[in-house]
Amino acid sequence: MPRGGKLGLPLVCRPAQLLQHPVRPIAGTPSLAHAAPQLPIDRLGPRRGMLLAAAAILLVAGADYATGYEMRLSVLHLAPIALAAWTAGTRAGMAAALAACLLWLLSFKSGNIYRQQAYYFWEAAVMLCGFLTVAWLSARLRRALSQADERFSRVIEEMRAAVYVADARRDEMLYANPEMLRIADTAAGLSPSAFERQFERAAEGGDAAPERDAAGFSSATLKSQRGGRWYLMQDGPIPWGSNPDVRLRVLTDITERRNAELLREKHLEVMHQAAQLTTLAEIAATLAHEINQPLMVIATYTDACQRLLDAPRIDRAEIARALGKCHAQAVRAASIIERLREFIRQRQHRPAPCAAGAVVAEAVATLRPQLDAAGIAVDFAETAPELELMADRILLTQVLVNLIRNAIDAMRDTPPEERRIALAVAARDGEARFAVADHGPGLDAAARENIFAPFFTTKPGGLGLGLAICRSVAEAHGGRLWAEEAPARGAVFHLAIPLKDTAP
Ligand code: ADP
Repeated sequence: MPRGGKLGLPLVCRPAQLLQHPVRPIAGTPSLAHAAPQLPIDRLGPRRGMLLAAAAILLVAGADYATGYEMRLSVLHLAPIALAAWTAGTRAGMAAALAACLLWLLSFKSGNIYRQQAYYFWEAAVMLCGFLTVAWLSARLRRALSQADERFSRVIEEMRAAVYVADARRDEMLYANPEMLRIADTAAGLSPSAFERQFERAAEGGDAAPERDAAGFSSATLKSQRGGRWYLMQDGPIPWGSNPDVRLRVLTDITERRNAELLREKHLEVMHQAAQLTTLAEIAATLAHEINQPLMVIATYTDACQRLLDAPRIDRAEIARALGKCHAQAVRAASIIERLREFIRQRQHRPAPCAAGAVVAEAVATLRPQLDAAGIAVDFAETAPELELMADRILLTQVLVNLIRNAIDAMRDTPPEERRIALAVAARDGEARFAVADHGPGLDAAARENIFAPFFTTKPGGLGLGLAICRSVAEAHGGRLWAEEAPARGAVFHLAIPLKDTAP
């Protein structure tokens, strides 16, 4: 269904047709398309092809007759037969083959050298078979090439991407598909450089030369100065006759994808802030209580010191003990505040592509001294080594450090030979699934219920903030953190983070 383009070109303009009908420049516009490279044989067309083939067959037959068939020139008929079949189709090729054979049959009759008439007809039959085969093969080859052209151009014309072929040296547009004609601005001219001036390049990778794939194609992100739309431009060489400067360029509209990416980033940031605020609110509420406790103890001991100082006989050892207790409680209060500050400092969430396996390896390396000191062996099973995440690597490493540290703490009473931590990372349902399993006492009902609540701790010096923070970090990444009893013994902590392509 040819439609008229705004440049006045027939929009359906197949390479096969280009081969036969050079595109004429459009009046009033610079020439958009020039004749594509053609073989001389393709320029002949069916009529002239047939005439030329007929003349050549007569010439060969005449020469064969004149030389008394000594030189067996009849084999030269193959060229005009192939020419007829190529330019005018199978029937024309077959007719040329038949004509060549008849000519040979009629003229050779006079100089028949065979002892038996049957051999003379046998040679004619063999010759006809050979000629017909060449005619059929030539026509078939021509048809196959046209169909390949047809398929290629159908794909290009129906593509929603703009495709054009440009002569980079002469700055000429050689071919443009309908989508390209739609987005081209006629006022800006039709040369590739004039068209490309309508776009500005997104700054990507600084001044470094763009990377090329195996076919020599490179990609760049462009922004249209007219409509503000974003395009991915792929540019690479295309064979075009003997001209080495011809480039194929494909512009794909990626505006929706880019907008979705920006929206996703904003969404992630908002979600992260919301998660942080929720956790901070929970922490603030319980922190008051937590800090209050050491402050009350300090107040009690300073009261006691006051009384000891007022006593008639000053007991220096008792005062020193009370002051020591004050000091320990002050240090505990300071450490609570320090942990909170640390958490707030890490609040800046900077997602970037990172490899899941590398995050686990980094967490293990961080805790290597503690693992060695506790005599704990680490098994690491990585079923998908190339797993890529969109995550804040430092925060994610910190989550795993917390989980492994808890596992170390949980195995204090485990017999030395059973002290093992099994780490795993695998892809499942668009997520990277991390698992940290230990051989500790596992989780009782109270622990299962409360471990993620801020300040739940069963450790003498524990703060109970680690898992609450870990869960809020997981959720800020659009992921989850949960715990289960291990099948045999101990606890398993599961962390699920969306993979790079599915990250929110
Ligand atoms: P903290 O380590 O300061 O206690 P966490 O939030 O990291 O704070 O842990 C909270 C509590 O969860 C721990 O005190 C412990 O009772 C329980 N817990 C955490 N990890 C494990 C584990 N691997 N096995 C058994 N209990 C655990």
